[in-house]
Amino acid sequence: MNREKMLSQIEDSSIKWDIVIIGGGATGLGCAVDAAARGLRTLLLEQGDFSQGTSSRSTKLIHGGVRYLQQGDIPMVRDSLRERGHLLKNAPHLVNPLPFVIPAYRWYEPYYYTFGMKAYDMLSGKLGIDPSLLLSRDDVIEKFPNLKNDGLTGGTLYWDAQFDDARMVVALARTAANENACVLNYLKVDSLQKENDQITGLVATDQLSGSEYTINAKAVINATGIFADSIRQLDDDKASEIIEPSQGIHIILDASFLSTDHAIMIPKTDDGRVLFAIPWHGHLMFGTTDTPDVPIELEPKPLEEEIEYLIEHAGRYLQKAPTRADVLSVFAGIRPLVRPAHTKGGATSKISRDHHIDVSAAGLITIVGGKWTTYRHMAEDTIDQAIKSASLPAKACPTLDLEIHRSAEREPLAQEHAELNEVLHPEFEYKKAAIVAAARHEMAQTLDDALSRRTRCLLLNKKATLEAAPEAARLMAEELGKDQVWIDEQITLISKSCKP
Ligand SMILES: Cc1cc2nc3c(=O)[nH]c(=O)nc-3n(C[C@H](O)[C@H](O)[C@H](O)COP(=O)(O)OP(=O)(O)OC[C@H]3O[C@@H](n4cnc5c(N)ncnc54)[C@H](O)[C@@H]3O)c2cc1C
Repeated sequence: MNREKMLSQIEDSSIKWDIVIIGGGATGLGCAVDAAARGLRTLLLEQGDFSQGTSSRSTKLIHGGVRYLQQGDIPMVRDSLRERGHLLKNAPHLVNPLPFVIPAYRWYEPYYYTFGMKAYDMLSGKLGIDPSLLLSRDDVIEKFPNLKNDGLTGGTLYWDAQFDDARMVVALARTAANENACVLNYLKVDSLQKENDQITGLVATDQLSGSEYTINAKAVINATGIFADSIRQLDDDKASEIIEPSQGIHIILDASFLSTDHAIMIPKTDDGRVLFAIPWHGHLMFGTTDTPDVPIELEPKPLEEEIEYLIEHAGRYLQKAPTRADVLSVFAGIRPLVRPAHTKGGATSKISRDHHIDVSAAGLITIVGGKWTTYRHMAEDTIDQAIKSASLPAKACPTLDLEIHRSAEREPLAQEHAELNEVLHPEFEYKKAAIVAAARHEMAQTLDDALSRRTRCLLLNKKATLEAAPEAARLMAEELGKDQVWIDEQITLISKSCKP
């Protein structure tokens, strides 16, 4: 993918795109893949970097959702498990099965949870991974030598899947581009254009150059997650708000706090939350929270009480209780939940994760809610709606069996240039080639794009990222033809993000 070539495709304002998608997260890029694979002339515009919104800040699980099983939302769990099965098949390079253990502290809990997880297995049908198992106390201790075992009675082992969310978004962008879609980051939609009260296009500004583009479209899709209401209000300033934001944060600890390749799932804390401790890129990720009424922003800020909550709960389960100084990084994301009138102000953890499609009187198609796991199904429903609304030439949705792009540039680059074969920093698995590939092939425009989303350094360890930043900036500047002023600016910006 090359941004200059993509930009040249929107210079001709006489082109009429079949579908223009606003938002480059899981939902928007899922729609771009679907529309382009059906042969529709497709354009996607993202105001920041691809996945800079919620889609790079998830728990990184492709799952049915044990919490939703507990809540009795069987259709949603079944749909998610079906999507999990297809993703394991279509993107095996990005999605991998992961064993989870639910530790039990009351005598009946191992049986209770194993029974529940057998139902989970049944719901996944032929697309299941491996069967759930009842574990004795000794089995759990053997798998998790660093788990507190006072009062432990046993446990349940079950399977779900894990992925790297931001890498998946880049892979979706490249899959869409391979199907001839034009996908652009740093293009912000400022206004919608109408004729006879119907949307006919939009105006967008390049956030890097300041250039403005007028774009004609037969159908416009609003896939902007937590920002969906602001786009709905560009269409109709009286449009009611449908997003109920809910913030979730994760803390990253050294892997030695758990020392295992299994994940832990705590199904119910005393305040009714679900917590996960998950091995990820050689570290331990612990989360998440559910904090309502947070400001809607692209770079949400973790609250101190959320961090304290996770440290305190990690200490309840881990033999070595972590302290604030052990937290290597923290990241926050905001769930774009759909507001049901009756739960306004209530617990966001209980709001359904179903998706919701709305078509305005002027034809704006808004897709909100859902989960990362169900992005493909959400996209299928949205493009079906767009085809219907704009009377586009209909083709059946092909994405159930469509392979997701596999990037193959990092290794050859590392083999060709000895310098690029070196790791960026001893703390990370990434080689310097990953930074060059990010700039050359993955449309990374800033140092933050390369360190937060093409690699995940910033999410894993802030101090090490700060140490790696000058070298990463130098490699990117060489690739993008930038000068020392740009390098200094980028390092300053990363330093701000790396503040403890
Ligand atoms: C803490 C947390 C943990 C989660 N864990 C999981 C999990 O483990 N598994 C799972 O299945 N789901 C999980 N989810 C849910 C999942 O991450 C979200 O449902 C999904 O990422 C939403 O994607 P999206 O594309 O709708 O929104 P986003 O990723 O936010 O994308 C919307 C994009 O629109 C862009 N945009 C906004 N305005 C404009 C404009 N004017 N012009 C152009 N672009 C614009 C934004 O910049 C943004 O990038 C989690 C969510 C959170 C918060």
